[in-house]
Amino acid sequence: MIFKHIVGHEDIIRHFKSSIEMGKVSHAYILNGEVDSGKKMLARVFARTLQCEEGGTEPCGKCQSCLQAETMNHPDIITVTHEKPDVISVEEIRQQLVESIGIKPYKSRYKIYIVPDAQLMNVQAQNALLKTIEEPPEYGVIMLLTSNIDKLLPTVTSRCMVLNTKPIRERDMLEYLVKELGLTEERAYFCLDFAQGNLGKAIKLAKNEEYSAIVDSVVNVLKKIHELDVDDLTTAVSHIEQFKLSIDDYMDLMMMWYRDVLMLKVTGNIDKLLFKQEYSTMKKQAGVMSYQDIEEKINAIARAKERIMVHANFDVTMELLLLTLKEN
Ligand SMILES: [Zn+2]
Repeated sequence: MIFKHIVGHEDIIRHFKSSIEMGKVSHAYILNGEVDSGKKMLARVFARTLQCEEGGTEPCGKCQSCLQAETMNHPDIITVTHEKPDVISVEEIRQQLVESIGIKPYKSRYKIYIVPDAQLMNVQAQNALLKTIEEPPEYGVIMLLTSNIDKLLPTVTSRCMVLNTKPIRERDMLEYLVKELGLTEERAYFCLDFAQGNLGKAIKLAKNEEYSAIVDSVVNVLKKIHELDVDDLTTAVSHIEQFKLSIDDYMDLMMMWYRDVLMLKVTGNIDKLLFKQEYSTMKKQAGVMSYQDIEEKINAIARAKERIMVHANFDVTMELLLLTLKEN
C-alpha cells in the first residue's frame, strides 16, 4: 500500500508529503477520526515512507525497510498493544514506548511508535507519555490514533500535530468498490449506504462472503415478521443461527430495515431507502406501526446486540427479539 492507492484523505497525505519534503516531520501526531476511517492505514504508509531507504515521498516497496514494514517485521516501527480491551495502562505505555524510545533506532532514520485506540490510555498512561512528547529524541516519531480526541488530556493534544480524517467522497468510494473489489454497482451502493460513508466499514461488509445471504435472510425474516407464529419464530431463530459469526452485521442490517420504515413514514421518500426493492412491504409496515412502535423495535435490536456481545444465550435473545419485532 502506498499513498497513491489510498482513497480520499488528500489533505492528510499532502501534509505528510510536504513535511517530508521540507524536512519538518513532527515528533508527535494525533490522527483523529471515526473507527475504520483509515487512520491505521495512513499511519502505516507514513511510517513506511519515513523509513524507506530511498528517502522519497512514497515508500519504494523494494528496499529491505519497505519489505520488513510490509510484513509488519520492521524493528523501528513499533505498534503499541494492550492486554485489556478497554484500557491502555501506564505499564504498557512505559514498557513499550517511554522506556524503549531512548534506545537508538536499530537501523533506520527514525524510531516510530503507532498507538492505535489511543483514547483508551488512562490518565496515568497519558501523563507517562507527556515527558516523551515534550522532549522526544531527534529520531522519535509517535502517532496516536484515536476515535475520540476528547479523551486525551489537553496537555497531550497541545503538543501533537492533530490531523482529522474526513469522510471520503461517495463517488471515490463507489469507484474503489467497483473497480478494486469488483462489486456490482448495486451492491457497492448498498455497502456504502449501510456504512454511511465509512469506507473501512463498507469494505468489511463487501468482503464478507456471506453478505448477500445475510441481506436476503434479514429481508425474508423482517418482511413476514407479523405473520409468523411461535413455531415459525423458532425456525427463524435456527435459520439466523447460521449467521452467528456475522451477527453484528446481521443486527445492523435489521436496524437499517426499521430506519428505512421510519424514514418512509416520516418523509415518504423512497430515494434514501437502503432496502429500496422492498418498498411496498415497508410502506405497509410504516402504515401499521406508530413512530413509537418503530423506535421500540430499533431499541430492542440494539439491546439484543449488546446482550449477544456479552455472550447471553443466542437462541433465547433472538427469540425474544423476534417476539418484540412481531408485536404491533
Ligand atoms: Zn523503500
